[in-house]
Amino acid sequence: MSQKYQQLECIIKKDFAYNVALSMLNWDNSTLAPPRSMELTADAIGLLSMESYHLTVNPQVEQLLEDLQQPEEYNSLMPHQKNIVKKMYKSFRDMKKIPADEIQQYSQLCAIAGGIWENAKINNDYASYKDTLSQIIEYQKRFATYSKAESQSIYDYILDMNEEGFTCEILDAFFDKLRKGIVPLIKKINENGQQIDDSFLKVPFDLEKQKQFCRLLAKHIGFDFDRGVMAESAHPFTMSFHNRDVRITNHYYEEDPTSSFFSAIHEGGHALYEFDIDDCYNGTAASSPSMGAHESQSRLYENNLGRSKAFWEPLYETLVSYFPAQLKDVSLDTFHRAINKSQPSLIRTQADELTYSLHVMIRYEIEREIFQGTVSVDELPALWNQKYEEYLGICPKNDSEGILQDSHWSFGGFGYFPSYAIGSAIAAQLMHTMKKEMDIDRLLQTGNLEPIHQFLQEHIHQYGGTKTVNEFLLDTTGEGFEPNYYIEYLTQKYSCLYNI
Ligand code: ZN
Repeated sequence: MSQKYQQLECIIKKDFAYNVALSMLNWDNSTLAPPRSMELTADAIGLLSMESYHLTVNPQVEQLLEDLQQPEEYNSLMPHQKNIVKKMYKSFRDMKKIPADEIQQYSQLCAIAGGIWENAKINNDYASYKDTLSQIIEYQKRFATYSKAESQSIYDYILDMNEEGFTCEILDAFFDKLRKGIVPLIKKINENGQQIDDSFLKVPFDLEKQKQFCRLLAKHIGFDFDRGVMAESAHPFTMSFHNRDVRITNHYYEEDPTSSFFSAIHEGGHALYEFDIDDCYNGTAASSPSMGAHESQSRLYENNLGRSKAFWEPLYETLVSYFPAQLKDVSLDTFHRAINKSQPSLIRTQADELTYSLHVMIRYEIEREIFQGTVSVDELPALWNQKYEEYLGICPKNDSEGILQDSHWSFGGFGYFPSYAIGSAIAAQLMHTMKKEMDIDRLLQTGNLEPIHQFLQEHIHQYGGTKTVNEFLLDTTGEGFEPNYYIEYLTQKYSCLYNI
């Protein structure tokens, strides 16, 4: 093995140890840690993060990465080592341009911004949060300016950081198609007047039984409990330490059992991706897929597969046996319609599959204006409400259910929202290709999800973060990102469900 690569590998291994420890602390904070532990633990997290930063962002690492890209060295590397060097160099270059003291000040700002946002949301008090938000936006602009190409806009740079290759031009075209395809469909459903009845799902369902059934669902899609755990947290999430320790969480609502069912499938879909990443990428910069890639897998399992009738055919009897009082007189057909009910709502995280992308589109359009400088933080609440009225026909009563509803901006998560919609579109594109290769409905009806999992493992999961969305789509489906499949899928599904 190249001696220089060996040196780099020692640094990667040490950084892996820091990152496992950091993930463990973050996992603990979100699940079991007592409330008063936060402050001291945050100090430990801060210290370990800085150790990790200094270990990987320094002149020695820069020299190693540059040497390893010289033809003689580079040609002697194994393919996975080349991928790791390329990925590491890219993140190194971006990190290096931002002065360390600014990173620290920004982290401190984000650490308190979460609490300020939360209080503002609880008290419906946007005024108490807007200055903090404004500071975060200024940092984001500054960081982008350090690193972006001269001709690139700030928001294009931010989008590319989240989803390589995506720009405002691509996303404008994507959301334009969505708006034209979905807004009329939603209007038709609402004018139709025959809303689906899901009241039988809004009664008490025993929480312990929900938990048991969620484990069964995760297992059904292929979640490996020897390499993963399922715990509880305020909001469901997935955290991967490496491909032999992937953790998912869920949240259980007594009178809304399908929330936990579909979270189990969604987070389970994220987890399958992480389990399947090739061993050679464990703990390296090449191990993390983009958000859009990740969401494509969780959403494919949750919506395209999990909300189909065929998926529930082998499971429904068992579900009824868990909850006979609530479901014994409910047919599978009725259940299937209920889990696909579509109704415009104000809260993104509770939105159905059809209206979800419009929530994302609203956030995208607002972020674009923020970074173009065409809207001030003072004007954001009104802009938000105006867009909800225009696209979903409803208006938030207050800022808590409007501009303050998401935590993302408080931790600097700009450019992150579009990935949710990109993920849904990729899922539809992948399903279109998979349906040509296998009888998906037949597999679901017999409860045999393994061939689907294998297809995704072979074409996408194993590569970790080494392929961009466009690269794996081109290799798997023969074309780059193509949103038409998503619009066709939604149109067909909802026209059929609502008889329109
Ligand atoms: Zn997700």
